[in-house]
Amino acid sequence: MKTFFLIFTVSVVCVSTTFSQKKPVAEIEKMVTRLDVEAPLTFLAADEMRGRDTGSHELDIAANYIASHFQQLGLRELPGAERYFQKVDLVKSFPIGAAEFKLNEDVLKFKEHFIVMVGSNQEWSGECVYVGYGSVSEVPADIKGKMIISIAGSKEAVGVQQIFSASAEKFNRIKAAGAAGLVEYFVTTPFPWPAIVNYFASNSSVAIKSDGPAVPHLWMKDTEVAGMRELKEQKKINGSFSIQGSKQVAVLTRNVVGKIEGTDPILKNEHIVISAHYDHVGVGVKKDQDSIYNGARDNALGTVGMMTAARFFTKYPPKRSIIFLALTGEEKGLLGSAWYADHPLVPLRQTVFDFDCDGAGYNDKTVATVIGLERTSAEGDITKACEAFGLKAGRDPVPEQNLYERSDNYNFAKKGVPAIDFATGLKSFDAEIMKYYHQPADEVGSLDFDYLVRYYRAFVYANYLIANGPKAPSWTAGDKYEQVGKALYQK
Ligand SMILES: [Zn+2]
Repeated sequence: MKTFFLIFTVSVVCVSTTFSQKKPVAEIEKMVTRLDVEAPLTFLAADEMRGRDTGSHELDIAANYIASHFQQLGLRELPGAERYFQKVDLVKSFPIGAAEFKLNEDVLKFKEHFIVMVGSNQEWSGECVYVGYGSVSEVPADIKGKMIISIAGSKEAVGVQQIFSASAEKFNRIKAAGAAGLVEYFVTTPFPWPAIVNYFASNSSVAIKSDGPAVPHLWMKDTEVAGMRELKEQKKINGSFSIQGSKQVAVLTRNVVGKIEGTDPILKNEHIVISAHYDHVGVGVKKDQDSIYNGARDNALGTVGMMTAARFFTKYPPKRSIIFLALTGEEKGLLGSAWYADHPLVPLRQTVFDFDCDGAGYNDKTVATVIGLERTSAEGDITKACEAFGLKAGRDPVPEQNLYERSDNYNFAKKGVPAIDFATGLKSFDAEIMKYYHQPADEVGSLDFDYLVRYYRAFVYANYLIANGPKAPSWTAGDKYEQVGKALYQK
């Protein structure tokens, strides 16, 4: 009896090893074919979808399409997302009419000296405080009700993208500390000042709706007005400003969310988020007789990756639970993911990983470019999954572009959740990328499906390995987000 039992056990182990090693790759090959991915991609990136702009009727059609897919698969609805829809409250602000900013009695003029990045009709007067670059150590502890004036970006930031993201980070920090607002002035401008004015003060913008009047964020060019000189010398000065003629309208939009429950009684409490933004930039400037920015690569492609994973995991539910998340408003500033991270439908401390699928296009078909690959312990699984389908897992080739903080994974990382972005193969932002990146030419007809099928299979397999692995991914030691991650999961 005992001997027999031993043999039986051994043979079971053998069978189960063979099953777990061979089966997923073969099954993924069977379930992820060109037809499976080309059909939904063609729908989402069709001209009739008019570039899926946030707030558009067509983005609602895309949301319904994704929700129908979830429904057909039998994904669970989460409380707060009935019929799979999580409402996201955004607001569209039109260019403001007039504004004035005074330092002592020196008047700074709207557009000539400064523009309003964020702000609505209001008047303010009080103390302005100069804080250098406005890094954490430079900003005083009590800034409640004060106007903070700093050099734009951060000391370390070089290039447009880094300045923009440092600026956004600083604004959020200063707003959270209760300041009256933030004014940043450019000592070196990434573009000439008139170009900044033309771009940022002449176009409408979309943001998350705030309770009460918006905390203002002003951008200013470095000026020689006496008030600025005094402020830099004295660090404090009285000032005032007013904004008039601002107009805002609500933008109704939604994330689409569904869940597959894990099969393991314990690990099912750990959730992996598979996310992809389904919005794009809509209809814009006509180029080569085409004004529809289809966004096939960006990001119908990622949306289909997420939908394909949902289809696979419905048939093969993994040990951990998976949340499938189609995000709105990414192109307006990662808004859908910012909303989800602030209003998670499963507590973030039970969310162990965000596997985002988004990219700028591809110019290297030997790799899947994984933004943040080396930043989490999922690197091994992702590399293995890519290799199974003849691809290499490539690290971010253009760190100076700050891509990690330009996709939805960033809003999870900021909260401490290990996160990566699985993008198509990128070697540089060359002419091949720019031909399609945010262009009307980004259409399904120009995609290479032999490559994409391998990319999608690797994507599904990487998620399979992570969702079934013995340990949830963690931040690489010393990573920028390691500490916030520790704080999140120790709560
Ligand atoms: Zn994108």
